[in-house]
Amino acid sequence: MRNIYALAFYIANCYRKIVAAAHFGYVRAAPTDFPSSDDEEAYMSRRNKLYEGKAKVLFEGPEPGTIIQYFKDDATAFNAEKTGTLAGKGVINNIISEHIFKALSDIGIPNHFIERLSMREQLIKAVEIIPVEVIVRNIAAGSLSKRLGIEEGTILPNPLVEFCYKSDEFGDPVIAEDHILTFGWADEHEIDELSHYALRINDFLSGLFAAIGIKLVDFKLEFGRHYVGDECTTILADEISPDGCRLWDMKTGEKMDKDRFRRDLGGEMEAYQEVARRLGILPNADVTEIADHLKKEG
Ligand code: C5P
Repeated sequence: MRNIYALAFYIANCYRKIVAAAHFGYVRAAPTDFPSSDDEEAYMSRRNKLYEGKAKVLFEGPEPGTIIQYFKDDATAFNAEKTGTLAGKGVINNIISEHIFKALSDIGIPNHFIERLSMREQLIKAVEIIPVEVIVRNIAAGSLSKRLGIEEGTILPNPLVEFCYKSDEFGDPVIAEDHILTFGWADEHEIDELSHYALRINDFLSGLFAAIGIKLVDFKLEFGRHYVGDECTTILADEISPDGCRLWDMKTGEKMDKDRFRRDLGGEMEAYQEVARRLGILPNADVTEIADHLKKEG
């Protein structure tokens, strides 16, 4: 009899562990499962951290060749000279980036996105990041205006593609194609792919944002090498969100991006949420859900 009780207890315990594992994400949680921050932290601390950047953390994924990308609320500007925390930024950027990467997949832009796992996490393909940031500009602003004295707001005659060396140490300096080739950061074919994808993404995103009353002024992209067996393809990586784009309201000219933080304009989260709302990915129900989640996070 005692053995039967022991067996029942053992089975119940196993069941409890499986349920807990699913909840904590050992078993992949559905995108609508939003574990509390305590759960998330407990889960994160058990994972193998691969890299921590300014706005994101990368953890080892559940299967080889996968990574979990975690979106933080930390905000930095001017090469981390200015730092801050914007409560909820990671949550909003996660869903905006998910939306855009899915849309880019639909138009045939290969990218690292697999699926969103939770409020702050997405499962992505592991890539070797190409150390070249690709910036596309439609309207002069930011460092272009500073470097070349072009008045902010000047519409460029054609989209301008710039390359920067991805290096915090040197402040991501603008570089020429020759630098990329000379130092072996990418080969000629890859450079062609970066430019081609960047312009295609610009066409698509300019239309996507124009349709919701937003001008896409400029944005930054990162790409990576994705290896499957002997094959290597160039795919879009990182994130696309108001952190790495300049977005101006078409009617009012208001900034709806990280310049609000960079220039101490305030209202960052309202602006980011408005972008998400206009994209149709933040219906009112979600706003309440996200607000509740953030309240729980304190
Ligand atoms: O600062 P700058 O004018 O060169 O930025 C151009 C665009 O690239 C902006 O949308 C900015 O948010 C983005 N960017 C970025 N990360 C960097 C540099 C620029 O997201 N390291």
